[in-house]
Amino acid sequence: MDVSADLALTGTALVDGKLRPAVVAVSHGRVVAVEDPGTMVDAAERVTLADDEVLLPGLVDSHVHVNEPGRTEWEGFTSATRAAAAGGVTTIIDMPLNSIPPTVDVAALVTKRAAAEGQCHVDVGFWGGAVPSSLGTLESLADAGVFGFKCFLVDSGVPEFPPLDGARLERAVAEVAALDSLLIVHAEDAGVLAAAPACTGSSYAGFVESRPHQAEDVAIARLLDLAASYDARVHVLHLSSADSLARLAEARAAGIRVSVETCPHYLTLSAEEILDGHTEFKCCPPIRDAANREALWRALTSGVIDCVVSDHSPSTADLKHLDTGDFGEAWGGVASLQLGLPLVWTAARERGVALETVVSWMSAAPAALTGLSRKGAIVAGGDADLVVFAPDESFVVEPERLYHRNPVSPYAGRTLSGRVRTVWCRGQRVVRDGIVVGGPHGRLLRKEPS
Ligand SMILES: [Zn+2]
Repeated sequence: MDVSADLALTGTALVDGKLRPAVVAVSHGRVVAVEDPGTMVDAAERVTLADDEVLLPGLVDSHVHVNEPGRTEWEGFTSATRAAAAGGVTTIIDMPLNSIPPTVDVAALVTKRAAAEGQCHVDVGFWGGAVPSSLGTLESLADAGVFGFKCFLVDSGVPEFPPLDGARLERAVAEVAALDSLLIVHAEDAGVLAAAPACTGSSYAGFVESRPHQAEDVAIARLLDLAASYDARVHVLHLSSADSLARLAEARAAGIRVSVETCPHYLTLSAEEILDGHTEFKCCPPIRDAANREALWRALTSGVIDCVVSDHSPSTADLKHLDTGDFGEAWGGVASLQLGLPLVWTAARERGVALETVVSWMSAAPAALTGLSRKGAIVAGGDADLVVFAPDESFVVEPERLYHRNPVSPYAGRTLSGRVRTVWCRGQRVVRDGIVVGGPHGRLLRKEPS
């Protein structure tokens, strides 16, 4: 078979879930053929991978807080999408809160899209927000192309994105089910948190006690009951509590339409190693103990957890209160968009988990979650979102050298395996030798009709 293309990449590629020798032909931003290496391809540009490189599908990160407009000093579309590109993430879906306005109505979505336009180095889509004021009007946001709706059951950290109480959560589940959309939930129960000791001061143990795993477990149980009642599609964001895994597994086995994500920080860090006063480790729900972390790994490999996404949630350095180390005062959020793949891969290989499996959690699974049918795999007809990755090359994390806006990272000084060398987003080269190159060619995505 003869193929004509703009670009032909030859080397070991992740195809049909396996790493194998292949030639990948790209034309007009799409993969047009995936063939055996000997196949003749008439291409304007040829790239041959080095022996220590593999070609992966671009990652899809469905949990990113960009914060522009309104809190652009925390993170903006330029800085976030450059960080994404450098990390091999070719699609991000932006969370509806921390920007001002929050994405809770069509006017706000228009404002966010206008802010993003012309700034994005990778493809960007948007979640909508289910807050008390937006209930009853979610259909208009769905029609405008959001990928689903996020809600909180507890204080979100910003006043303009209030949580849903129990009755409103039920309304949101019913409304989303009627739209055949997706409700993504920050699942911590407000009542359990209110009864827990308040968090003040620099003790990390004190912070964890203020956000006990029971808060997640109670919220998830309630969500599963509602999902069953309304046959709704629901998604548990940033699962930290391993105590919910058995219930989630049972729900899935019973046919409840629930999916689950966890994040690199819950898989690579543990409470035992976090020193008091180190608020760069603060996120909600919190990083728990090492035994909990290992249970999350087992749930990923058994399929109870579907996705690994960043929950990239930066703030300015002063809001992390690194000077006082007060966990009560500090902003809760970890910025890891650029580091997700090497973080998870480094921890995965120590546990005997294959790179193919890691990439399925970080690319195919979040693409499926968001219904992005042309993302998440190297396949003819798919978008040419391609990453040249060197799994054995190591590097040391230096926060000042990351592309995200504020150089705060709990991973500073860590040695990680796996370097992203070159990235194409829809056939456009956006990273060369680890450096972001070229202009902002990213597109703004709308949810595809299902
Ligand atoms: Zn988040």
